[in-house]
Amino acid sequence: MQTQIAEPFKESPMGAEAEAILRKCVHCGFCLATCPTYKLTGDELDSPRGRIYLLKQLLEGNSVSAKTQFHLDRCLGCRACETTCPASVPYHRLVELSIPLVEAEVPRSLKQRLLRRAILSVLPYHQRFSPILNTARLVRPLLPKQLAKKIPPRQATHSQSEALPESATRSMLILEGCVQPSLSPEINQATARVLGRLGIKLEAAPKAGCCGAVSYHLNQQEDGLDFMRRNIDAWWPQIERGCEAIVITASGCGTTVKEYGELLKDDPAYAEKAKRVSALAADLIEILSAEDLSALDIHPEQSLAFQCPCSLQHGQKLGGKVEALLRQLGFEMKPVRDSHICCGSAGTYSIFQPELATELRANKLQSLHDSGAQQYISANIGCIMHLSQETERPVRHWIQIIDQALHSGPQGHKNKKRDSL
Ligand code: SF4
Ligand code: SF4
Repeated sequence: MQTQIAEPFKESPMGAEAEAILRKCVHCGFCLATCPTYKLTGDELDSPRGRIYLLKQLLEGNSVSAKTQFHLDRCLGCRACETTCPASVPYHRLVELSIPLVEAEVPRSLKQRLLRRAILSVLPYHQRFSPILNTARLVRPLLPKQLAKKIPPRQATHSQSEALPESATRSMLILEGCVQPSLSPEINQATARVLGRLGIKLEAAPKAGCCGAVSYHLNQQEDGLDFMRRNIDAWWPQIERGCEAIVITASGCGTTVKEYGELLKDDPAYAEKAKRVSALAADLIEILSAEDLSALDIHPEQSLAFQCPCSLQHGQKLGGKVEALLRQLGFEMKPVRDSHICCGSAGTYSIFQPELATELRANKLQSLHDSGAQQYISANIGCIMHLSQETERPVRHWIQIIDQALHSGPQGHKNKKRDSL
């Protein structure tokens, strides 16, 4: 694509990077076929190619309007377009570079500013989010049904001592994250139990927290980078002691941690450390796929339908890995129609774009239902919570299914009652 980047941007590193991305796009339109928002609205400006065109106009010095912001806001950031693009255009990076310019030009309404502020003040902080969630759970029975189902009920969990591996000879760090420990503590506990069977002990760094994605993607890039630096500082002592990997059980967070090296490359104090952290970051499926699982005594009981999060398949390019591992362990995996299309969760998207998010969720739940599977599984806490709001069937992390199957054999029957909760 021909470009004429405007003077104020042309000489800056941001302008140079954005121009290089724009020039890669050949305007072929292949990406339109897999863009969830374009599929719903049929509007070219809700497609990757249309949004690239809007950003090109901005970078060439044309005026930016609320219309530009509107169509960018409707982008899920799912990166399905990147998986499809024959020219390997890093669309998400173009958006990251350009969003601050759009936000500076187009002021948001007071209502939008307040909502964004509230989310940024609560979600990334476990110690703030947890008491608010607990209070919401207390009043849940008094709320109207539509509101009540947005508040996930408390889950049954193991005691911590039960989760500790006895024969661990290897150690890995685990990212606990911001909302997952409150919403579904069982995911990381199941991870600890399964890895414990393989002789791997998980260590948490108490001062680590949110991966930084919430702030970074809501145009608070500096705050997002500070969350990343804080995690690097928290993990660094264990990394220096030779920890094998940083295990991440939420694929959305994993995508971001794997990008620390790129996002902090211009920070001389953190660039090298960030690169090391990104190299150590691994989604749980990468860890388990590299292990010999033949010694695990697995008793698969249910047929499964896997909702592959966009962050896993498009962000981390790990599509198909979870299904392959579960098949290898003896589970029956049912094919899911349109598995490349986002469920509508997409970080905070379902809060800001409820109509599109609801439509995408209904389509995803229909696909899961049509698969005929007995159990729905995912790999990202946001998707699990989003889908769970509109289905009676539990949606769980795939590691919980393996953990449950480990306890379903002769020695595990005492845990069956708990696992069925
Ligand atoms: S598929 Fe790639 S090259 Fe083609 S229009 Fe979309 S972003 Fe541009
Ligand atoms: S990130 Fe997703 S929603 Fe956004 S343009 Fe690409 S495919 Fe469409």
